[in-house]
Amino acid sequence: GELAVTDPLRRALEAVAETLISARDELTELDREVGDGDLGISLARGAAAILAEGPAYPGADGPGAVLRAASATVRRSVGGTSGPLYAVLLLRAAACLPGPTGAPADWAAAFRAGVAGVREIGDAAVGDRTMVDALQPAADAFAGSLAAGHDWRFALDAAVEAARVGADATAQVRARLGRSSYLGDRVLGRPDPGAVAVARWLGAVASTLRS
Ligand code: ADP
Ligand code: MG
Ligand code: MG
Repeated sequence: GELAVTDPLRRALEAVAETLISARDELTELDREVGDGDLGISLARGAAAILAEGPAYPGADGPGAVLRAASATVRRSVGGTSGPLYAVLLLRAAACLPGPTGAPADWAAAFRAGVAGVREIGDAAVGDRTMVDALQPAADAFAGSLAAGHDWRFALDAAVEAARVGADATAQVRARLGRSSYLGDRVLGRPDPGAVAVARWLGAVASTLRS
């Protein structure tokens, strides 16, 4: 039926939302230590909105339309720095998926374009201690693994691993951007909450799509 092409995407969005709701207290605590303590609540609010509005997203036009609708949900429901950045990520990714279906290489291009949007809007580079430290290596690992001939499941696992390594590595660096940048050395030893959130939701995407 109509919904078939976007069915895995819907399942993935649902898994992302459920994972972010489960991670709410952990992310809030982490953001309390190195930021202002609202990240877990912000992302859980967006997740609840995705769960509520997702069933009404238009599926017949393919994954791009679903991602565009999800971007609008995030823009309305998520505040702070994360809201606009995730809205842009989803919107830029949507633009790379105009057809009724997306091949793995299209998803790789979409992931990279979304991350490029976050870098552009946030003026962030890898190493600044932001969500980009998890997103960029993950997007690169996914595209690189596909280009090396691996199937999308393997590539997705590589992306999850890269996001985890990238998120963990943020504990070693001072922040150049965001609220954590005011804390200097005091953030050392704790990972960036936004990067940890990326590793969590990407892990949920991979485990859901594999099952
Ligand atoms: P805040 O409460 O500071 O407005 P959030 O709590 O919504 O922001 O999100 C904090 C996360 O946003 C950080 O952990 C970091 O990963 C990410 N972040 C902060 N500033 C930027 C930026 N300029 N570019 C990209 N990501 C950023
Ligand atoms: Mg915050
Ligand atoms: Mg805030």
